Amino acid sequence: MYSRTEDRDQNPKTVQGEEPESIRYPLMEDFYTIQGEGFHAGRAAYFIRLAGCDVQCWWCDVKDSWDEEKHPKVATGDIVGRAAASGARIAVITGGEPLLHDLLPLTLALKERGLQVHIETSGSSPLSGHLDWVTLSPKRFKQPLDEVFPYVDEMKVVVLKNKDLEWAEKNALKCPEHTHLLLQPEWETPSSVELIINYVKENPQWGISLQTHKFMNIP
Ligand code: SF4
Repeated sequence: MYSRTEDRDQNPKTVQGEEPESIRYPLMEDFYTIQGEGFHAGRAAYFIRLAGCDVQCWWCDVKDSWDEEKHPKVATGDIVGRAAASGARIAVITGGEPLLHDLLPLTLALKERGLQVHIETSGSSPLSGHLDWVTLSPKRFKQPLDEVFPYVDEMKVVVLKNKDLEWAEKNALKCPEHTHLLLQPEWETPSSVELIINYVKENPQWGISLQTHKFMNIP
């Protein structure tokens, strides 16, 4: 768990001089669905997809998220109100690259409504906010910051070819012992499935993450 507490300790009502619920984030979409990937696959979760990304992977399946100017800035209170009304127990903050934004107001408000807060990040910017679960998905296009690794609960590496396995091992060396290590085939690269199956059989400290939401045809 990662928790930045200094603002809360100084003044529980305000963050950076503003009511937390009025602070706005560029929001591409938010919806209640089933987490399709990784350790929590199969669990119901409210997804909050913030806009903006400084990594820009060529195979990205949410390229619409890259330019935050294309998306409305939505008040924290509105986002969190919808998440709480959905009945979800888990909120997943994703992107884009969500750590381009200070997540303290959003995560604080989610936790005050009783939701667990998960984040999916490339680790290209420092952590912020109150995070119950950190999923790091490191990208070769922009290396994660070293300061993120101690808080990584799950590392999920997208694999297209052999070079990605080397990249996965390089990052695994920086993770704490408790981190769940997962390899995920890139959806449009079928050859990556066989590559991963063979690799995980030979290196059982790794597991496989599948994008099950794509099989189920849900967002
Ligand atoms: Fe897409 Fe994520 Fe890569 Fe950004 S970091 S380009 S959102 S896959």
